[in-house]
Amino acid sequence: MPEEKIRLLVADDEESIRGSLSMLLGEEGYDVTTVPSAEEALERFGRDPFPLVITDIRMGGMSGIDLLKEVRKLRPETEVIIMTSYASLETAVLALRSGAYDYLLKPFEDLELVITAVARAVEKGCLVRERNRLMEALARKNEELSAINTFLAERANRDGLTGLYNHRYFQEALARETALCVRHGRALSLIFGDVDHFKQFNDMHGHQAGDMVLCRIAEILQKCIRMSDVVARYGGEEFVVLLPDTIQEDARELAERIRVAIESHPFPGGETQPGGKLTISIGLSSFPEDGRETGALIQRADSALYAAKRSGRNLVRVHG
Ligand code: GH3
Ligand code: MG
Ligand code: MG
Repeated sequence: MPEEKIRLLVADDEESIRGSLSMLLGEEGYDVTTVPSAEEALERFGRDPFPLVITDIRMGGMSGIDLLKEVRKLRPETEVIIMTSYASLETAVLALRSGAYDYLLKPFEDLELVITAVARAVEKGCLVRERNRLMEALARKNEELSAINTFLAERANRDGLTGLYNHRYFQEALARETALCVRHGRALSLIFGDVDHFKQFNDMHGHQAGDMVLCRIAEILQKCIRMSDVVARYGGEEFVVLLPDTIQEDARELAERIRVAIESHPFPGGETQPGGKLTISIGLSSFPEDGRETGALIQRADSALYAAKRSGRNLVRVHG
């Protein structure tokens, strides 16, 4: 396929200039369109833009500078070369300030200069378009990359089975929230939950059925909490809910709601569990009464949980 010719638009009210540029640049391999006025140039350009416009500065009606401005408005990457006579060098400077790529003095003394100026302007236009294309591609890639990063960062914080936050994320969140409590004197509560007799459930119904139970429990927990709470799988069949801005009394109410929600959920296979249903034991601790640092808060919630186990399971306990 023959290479497509580069299209140039020449606007000049002097027929001889149009003729000589048309011939000169046509011989150089450009596809040259000539028009006698800026108005006509703009009209042509509006229909089908050119990568390069070569325009006389002063014509009957609209000036070359105005044409330049209109063209750049329509298509910023189009280059414009202004032609002027020796008498108005100052206007050539104005043209450059208005965004022209170059200017040519009339009458043309050295035709090579004209050809070089046009070739340079065309090349610059190509480079600008290539750069824009690369910048757009880069911006798209960056967006993709940041979406992937967000996705991976989010996934790294999640438990693979239940989709809840994982142990590591919970530890980070707890450290963050505890620091806020210390600094601002805010409240914070922790709820630790452990499925009762889960080994027996697995032994009876298989590990996969056990996994289903853990997923259902995760859903129930998520329905019970607020946006600002963090619910995580602490490990195995243990769950933890971090409740910022929550005093012990309110945490205990929520823990009770969770306990009841699980007790009354019809887990398939739950009927073979002791007491005829699948249940969970819960321990909780609160800042500051049970401790002012993460280790103490976890330890208190954990010992409260074991108190619940000792007292018969399917219970909420605050102190160990
Ligand atoms: P308790 O009421 O004292 O908590 O009794 P338990 O049987 O629940 O406690 P134990 O610590 O003896 O056993 C925990 C069981 O949880 C054993 C283990 O196989 C099961 N488990 C831990 N993680 C998973 C898991 O990801 N999937 C399944 N299906 N079971 C799990
Ligand atoms: Mg258990
Ligand atoms: Mg356990």
